[in-house]
Amino acid sequence: MQIELVSVTPDAEKVIERAARTCYQSGALIADDSCKAFLPKLISMGHLTPFEHSYATFMISGVSRAMTHQLVRHRMMAVCQKSQRYVTENNFEYVMPPSVKQEDIAEFKNDMESIKQMYIKWKKKGLRNEDARFVLPNACESEIMISANFREFRHIFQMRCSKHAQWEIREACSIMLRKLHAIAPEVFADQISLADQA
Ligand SMILES: Cc1cc2nc3c(=O)[nH]c(=O)nc-3n(C[C@H](O)[C@H](O)[C@H](O)COP(=O)(O)OP(=O)(O)OC[C@H]3O[C@@H](n4cnc5c(N)ncnc54)[C@H](O)[C@@H]3O)c2cc1C
Repeated sequence: MQIELVSVTPDAEKVIERAARTCYQSGALIADDSCKAFLPKLISMGHLTPFEHSYATFMISGVSRAMTHQLVRHRMMAVCQKSQRYVTENNFEYVMPPSVKQEDIAEFKNDMESIKQMYIKWKKKGLRNEDARFVLPNACESEIMISANFREFRHIFQMRCSKHAQWEIREACSIMLRKLHAIAPEVFADQISLADQA
């Protein structure tokens, strides 16, 4: 799994603080460290709209379609994903769940190879990518670029870093949480412990 933070709103915390202070008309000049007390207060009050003013974009690769299918359910997020219509999967890579036992790894790999041959067979029979993909597994690797505002990232982390979430999306979201926490510590301070559950 590779997760790259492609871009983030410059001075993300200051942007949020400025948005919120617009509501309260509480000081046009923002001190260097005023976010430290102010942003956690907004969170504790449930005043989360200001957090919609800062954004981040991630490129995620080496993850399964099983994982991306869950991720794209988050509706407040912009998504661009590798197409299985425009891109052929003759040589698809796949993710093997860690729960596959050591003695079963070869069998898992053989099954993936069989599916690959099936896909190629149907392509040779004349099916287009969009139909040949019907035999592809959920394990098939994908690449996906996502953008969302910080309010939505907070929601996603709450849902997906939880121990109730599936291991792969939990791992991906925990990595994203750590990266965003490094940039905007006050926005994600109350959530960073969730990343340790991955
Ligand atoms: C542990 C776990 C198990 C799951 N299991 C299943 C499952 O078995 N089957 C399944 O289908 N899905 C499952 N899901 C996915 C889940 O149903 C949601 O699709 C997913 O959490 C994204 O939707 P969301 O509302 O949480 O947040 P987002 O789509 O990211 O939206 C963020 C927030 O915006 C608001 N919002 C967004 N759209 C609307 C709207 N139309 N109306 C009102 N408010 C809105 C809500 O407050 C929402 O929480 C599971 C999720 C988790 C975390």
